[in-house]
Amino acid sequence: MPRMAQRVAALGTTIFAEINRLARQYNAINLGQGAPDFDAPPPVLEAAVQAVRSQLNQYAPNTGLLEAREAIAQHAERFYGQRLSPEQVLITAGATEAMFAAILGLSDPGDEIIVFQPVYDSYVPNMRMAGVLPRYVNLYAPNWSFDPDELAAAFTPRTKAIIINTPHNPTGKCYSRRELEIIAELCLRHNAIAITDEVYEHIIYDGGQHTRLATLDGMAERTLTISSLGKTFSATGWKVGWAIGAPELVESVNRAHQFITYSVATPLQAAAATALNLPDSYFESLRAEYQRKRDKLLAILRGAGFQTFTPQGGYFIMVDWRAAAPEHIQDDVQFAEWLIREVGVACIPPSAFYRAEDKHRAAHLARFAICKRDETLEAAAERLAAMRVSSG
Ligand code: PMP
Ligand code: GLN
Repeated sequence: MPRMAQRVAALGTTIFAEINRLARQYNAINLGQGAPDFDAPPPVLEAAVQAVRSQLNQYAPNTGLLEAREAIAQHAERFYGQRLSPEQVLITAGATEAMFAAILGLSDPGDEIIVFQPVYDSYVPNMRMAGVLPRYVNLYAPNWSFDPDELAAAFTPRTKAIIINTPHNPTGKCYSRRELEIIAELCLRHNAIAITDEVYEHIIYDGGQHTRLATLDGMAERTLTISSLGKTFSATGWKVGWAIGAPELVESVNRAHQFITYSVATPLQAAAATALNLPDSYFESLRAEYQRKRDKLLAILRGAGFQTFTPQGGYFIMVDWRAAAPEHIQDDVQFAEWLIREVGVACIPPSAFYRAEDKHRAAHLARFAICKRDETLEAAAERLAAMRVSSG
């Protein structure tokens, strides 16, 4: 008798677990999963240690520690001019749980949610588990723009919500204000909710600006904004995230959250308050440091013969590998496996971010992580240079 539920049987294994396993097996330099190989800022680490030592080790309130919710609200005001009360903030186990709880709390089985493809790999499995149907709208290279008519056609009477991830994983696209206005207009016309995933909100390149959909006209009451500590404070393992927005939306998300995790690691919430209250200079230096790393990795990848897509934000660089790899390689999964085994560098095959019938769209692509120490990037550069010599 099969024991695995049908609900999960079709979901497979996440690409991140698979690539990490292969990377370990072949001792590859891992530019796959988006996890820094450097630590969070010392004051943030210290705040967590202090919290553990200050008897903050029992359950936090279900919606989150008040001081952390206040810090999240203040951060939203400081960077985006949003005015939120602590009741409009829910703390979750990372952005990942926030998204799942949002889907469960805001849609019913049979509803549709629109996503842009490539789509971050957890959203659609979340929808499947909730009985919600995904509707896909493509982002087209080289700029990863969408066709407004294609987007308009994706809205139906069953559309409950649209998910927007900006800056975008895996492409590095930052949705422009104009694009967000088009999305906002459609949400208003179809009475749909927008759920945004803004985990890379502070990692923006070339002097660009992050636009928060919730701040556009008419969108405050229909946008749920999700973000987390992981990327902004180089603490992906902490899994402290949040969902903010209109009280009714946040309450709906909490109806699910209260029965998924109930509450989130208390001492790490206390440290989140310290992190989010760091001065502007912290956020400026994070941005400058990532700019430097992005430029460094772009140069390395170009030097290795890849055609690169310059990201506007986020943790990743997408490349077209065809000019740099041996001819027998057919698709992105084969390329990623070959690169790990033969070259000793790990990347993510972006077809993981496409539905089955669209995986061919990513067959010539690879995704490399920027969030690594200079030594790591340089070690990868050496191996990639050797690849160039051996594959001609
Ligand atoms: N959303 C996106 C777009 C991501 O890239 C990631 C992971 N890097 C997450 C969510 C996960 O965030 P968290 O670790 O806070 O759950
Ligand atoms: N978001 C990270 C990435 O895209 C991975 C997170 C995870 O492993 N689930 O690399």
